[in-house]
Amino acid sequence: MSVLSPHYIPKNLPFREDQIMEVMSIVSPALKGQKPRNLIIYGKTGTGKTSSIKMIMDDFTNVGKDARMHYVNCRIYNSRYRIMQKILKNYSPDMEKAGFGFPHLYEKLLEITSKGHQIVIVLDEIDMIKDLDELVYTLTRANDENGIGGVSIIGISNRLSFKDALDPRSRSSLYETEMVFPPYTSEQLRKILAQRVDGGFEKNVVENSAINLAAALTAQESGDARYALKLLMKAGEIAEQTCKEKVSDDEVEAARKKVELDLTAETISTLPDMHRLVLLAAANVTSSGSKYSRLEGLEDGFLFSGEVYEEYSSQCKKMKKRARSTRWFKEYLNDLEMLGLLITTPSSKGVRGHTTLIKLGQNAEDMLRILKEGFN
Ligand code: ADP
Ligand code: MG
Repeated sequence: MSVLSPHYIPKNLPFREDQIMEVMSIVSPALKGQKPRNLIIYGKTGTGKTSSIKMIMDDFTNVGKDARMHYVNCRIYNSRYRIMQKILKNYSPDMEKAGFGFPHLYEKLLEITSKGHQIVIVLDEIDMIKDLDELVYTLTRANDENGIGGVSIIGISNRLSFKDALDPRSRSSLYETEMVFPPYTSEQLRKILAQRVDGGFEKNVVENSAINLAAALTAQESGDARYALKLLMKAGEIAEQTCKEKVSDDEVEAARKKVELDLTAETISTLPDMHRLVLLAAANVTSSGSKYSRLEGLEDGFLFSGEVYEEYSSQCKKMKKRARSTRWFKEYLNDLEMLGLLITTPSSKGVRGHTTLIKLGQNAEDMLRILKEGFN
């Protein structure tokens, strides 16, 4: 795997030493047979949360005590049942078979922890779990029944707001400890990139100013190390395609637009059908021009949500799908906004009274192209 790939986990993670130490000290009681406090790690995408935790897990499993850390990607394992099954499978492989009732899984969990074994469950992207309250309740109950504990949780989230969606009981249980991974600064990104460039490129191929530019652009945008790495990797590809011997500022600038589109395409590819149709509707209306824009003096690129809803309904009809109510439509808009695909804002009080205005996060034609590629 390329050293520049975002999936590559470097041997050391500069600027995360403190966070790694802190998490280690929080989980360390498990190695002495005591239940660690639960922990929530919050931080934006690309702040090194997943890499840090994987590094900690490597150290943890090397010790060989009666404790284990289990990593769960909640994008894939997104329910209490599937998470429990995934963890228990590491103790008895037959758990993978379908058809065990939930009580059976629960009994199995108690059996494992009742003899003092400590389980630390890492729930990465914890906000993707559909029935998180139930999961937390189950694990808490297992601890109570054992008397001594045995299960603790490290939850990792990109979204600060997910806390509010929790039941107060599971909230206070999960948030025993809270940690924040801050976005990287321009200077930190510069060092991270320089380190990776050493392994990923021939010496002196990447100009220093190009690294500085990639770091500065990223810091200004998000502080997301993944983005910075992609930027540099793409700049390298562009240099290669255009037969340049060096990667310079120009290639980084050119890479920027490409990376943004790639990221958008990546996000769109994970969208469920209804979200896709809402986005398609917004792109269609943007592209053909809002009927009301001049009439009511809308700001450039903004659409009335009603207009988008109409287009969404007719797209649904075309796809032979049932259009959801406006209440759902609002939910979809919220989700799309969270993913950065569009922005919404309340209108000022005008002819139509209060309504929501929508604006695409990117150029409509680019969006349409991406959307058409991936429709299933
Ligand atoms: P998160 O889980 O917070 O979204 P990741 O841990 O997946 O972030 O990191 C994204 C990418 O950035 C990975 O490729 C990782 O190797 C790289 N990265 C993040 N932090 C650092 C760091 N401190 N030093 C080097 N690379 C890093
Ligand atoms: Mg992550």
